[in-house]
Formats: sequence, C-alpha cells, structure tokens
Amino acid sequence: MIDHRRLGRELDLFVSDPLAGAGLPIWLPAGAAARHAVEEYVRELERRSGHQHVYSPPLGKRELFELSGHLGYFADDMFPPLRLSADDEFVLRPALCPHHALVFRARGRSYRELPLRVAELGGMYRSERSGVLGGLSRVRAISLNDAHIFCAPEQVGEEVVEILGLIRAAHAALGVRPAGFRLSLRGPGGKYVGDDAQWIRAEDLLRGALAGVEYVEAPGEAAFYGPKIDIQIVDAAGRESTISTIQVDFDKPERFDLSYTDSDGGRRRPVMLHRSLVGSMERLFAYLIEAHEGAFPAWYAPVQLVVLPVDDGQADAAADLARRAVDAGLRVEVDAAGSLGARVRDAARRRVPYLGVLGAREAAAGALALRLRDGRALAPMPADAALALIGGQVAARSADLLPG
Ligand SMILES: [Zn+2]
Repeated sequence: MIDHRRLGRELDLFVSDPLAGAGLPIWLPAGAAARHAVEEYVRELERRSGHQHVYSPPLGKRELFELSGHLGYFADDMFPPLRLSADDEFVLRPALCPHHALVFRARGRSYRELPLRVAELGGMYRSERSGVLGGLSRVRAISLNDAHIFCAPEQVGEEVVEILGLIRAAHAALGVRPAGFRLSLRGPGGKYVGDDAQWIRAEDLLRGALAGVEYVEAPGEAAFYGPKIDIQIVDAAGRESTISTIQVDFDKPERFDLSYTDSDGGRRRPVMLHRSLVGSMERLFAYLIEAHEGAFPAWYAPVQLVVLPVDDGQADAAADLARRAVDAGLRVEVDAAGSLGARVRDAARRRVPYLGVLGAREAAAGALALRLRDGRALAPMPADAALALIGGQVAARSADLLPG
C-alpha cells in the first residue's frame, strides 16, 4: 500500500514530531530541496503570466478578520485569537485574502492596472482536530500557493479561462493527474453572502469558462462568498480532495470598499478572484509522493545525480565532477563508502534519477557512465555531455530521464 507518510520517512522528506505538535510537519533537507524547486517553478509560471508577488505576515489584528468576514463565517476552523491586551488581539490567518485586499487598497487604482494579479506563497493556519491529522495531507500550518486577481466585472470570464490554462500547465509539469472538475454552487441554508443576481452571474461566468471541459455540479459546496471551480485529486487510499481552485468573490471588494477609477473618471468596484494553481505545498507533496512513489521527475528530485567512484583512485575526479555539476545548477552527491553494488542499491532506494559511475578508465578519459533510475545504462560519454544531458532534461522539466 502506497502511503506518503511511509515514503516520506524512508526518503527523509519530512518528519512529524509530537514535540512540535500534530499537523505541524518539519520539511527535512531532501523534502525542502524538492519543494524549493517546485516553488521556483510556480513563481516563474506566475511571473510570466503577469502576476506580481508580495509578502504578508501570517497573522493580523482581529479587526482585519472581522472586516473580512472570516471571524463571522469561519471561526470554527480558526485558532482562538492571541490576546496581548484587552484591546489588542491578533489572529493566525485562515486565508491570505484580507492582506491582499490591503495590497489593492495601498493606493488609488486605475482601470489601466486591471487585472491586478497579486500572488504569494504564504503561511496560514487551520485549527484541525488532532484526530484527522496525518503526514502532509491534513495539517494545521499551511503554505498556500495563492493569488488574488482584482479585475473589472467584464474581465472575469477571460481571466478564469487564463487561470485554467495555467493550472493545466502546472499539472502537466508536476505529474498531477486530476480526478475531475467540480463547479461548486450554493446550496440550501443562509450561510451565503451577496445578492442573488451576483451569484447567478458568477455561476454563469464559471459555466462559460468550463465550456468543453467535463465537470460535475456540486450544490452546497460553494464558499460563503461565491461559487468556485475545484479541481479534484484522489490519493492512494482513494480519498478525494481539492488541489486547484478558482473562486469568484463579489463580497470582499464590498467589505474592504475596494474601488478603481474607470476610463470615464467614475469609481467602480472590482471583482476579486481567489485562485490556487497547485494548492498548498503540504497537500501537493502528499499527492506527488504517492503519485510518483517517491521517484519525482528529475527537475524536482532532491538529489539529481549521485557520483560513484569505483575505488579511491577516482576520488579527485569524482570531487571535480561534482563541483562542475553544482556549478551547472544540479543537486549532486558523491557516494564513495562501501561496495559499488551497495551504493547503486542505495541510490535506487532513494529514487535518485541519475547515477554516474566513475572507474579508472572513465576518470582518465574525462568520461562518465550514466545509469538511470529505471535500470537503463548508457555507454560512457564525455562528462560534459553527461552533465549537459541531465541539465537539459531538468531545464525542460521533462518527465523523461532521456531526451525523446
Ligand atoms: Zn483568497
């Protein structure tokens, strides 16, 4: 049975220590290296598609979350406020939206700036009960790939289509295979804010953006402030969860009194879109560890190349090769301890994509014999060519270990 908690332990990706607290995993160097590569990729994808990145703190004054509606609608899922004094209380944020509304409000805005796409990989907190916590899939401290897009009402449809394209690109690069698309709508009950006309318009816009996509409608699954598109994944144990989301929000722009100056000089209210391309780093990696059984594509493998000198005679050549690999931007290790067979098996156990075997003949010729994680072995080639081959697959973020 594939389980990301067991693989996470075996591959030294993360640890859950009861002393740190349930649902508060610690990313170990191998897991952090993989996550860092994924974060860099997502940030670059967002930069290329017109997002601007910000930093905001993971806690804020109680009043901020009263204004946003979170304390009114979402308090059950939040940690209790932290009290410094009677009139000074802070809240560990359950979402990034309130801070990003303040980014929009930091100065006057013109229609020329829209859509304004504010992105952040930021921390937030949920007071999950300890019984439901496990590994990375349900946590209390969440690192969310998030963005809020402030746009004119007539820009919403095009923007949602654009975001769906980015989600598809990110899923393809990471090896995420969605289990389905879901359009989450209002259900019975009074927990929803905003007027009927707004809800109907938003639901129509999302249906329009999903034209040609197979999806199911889920009444009652909408956020309290608007309808959303959720993209679902299924883990190895068959549990379904949301990995990517696009939400329409007419409510927060009202609450924060957001406005921009239109081309005719009048003031208009923007629409706010909440969107996450790949969800939280925790849930994403819980999924990726299981989907790849720990054998990540080379571009986010914790170690991409292990250099294996056959004996002590190649120690200098191995160190030199590793230095050149590091300079080329690769994550590399030299493993010189123990029998060659044991070292090959250990690298295979750790799912390292490329092994570079360096015998006396290769060292003398400046060559390297590459073996791949899947058992394929290549004829010795010049070491520079071997590094270029690996670097090329990494730069292309290819799912394959060899060029096609
Ligand atoms: Zn949001």
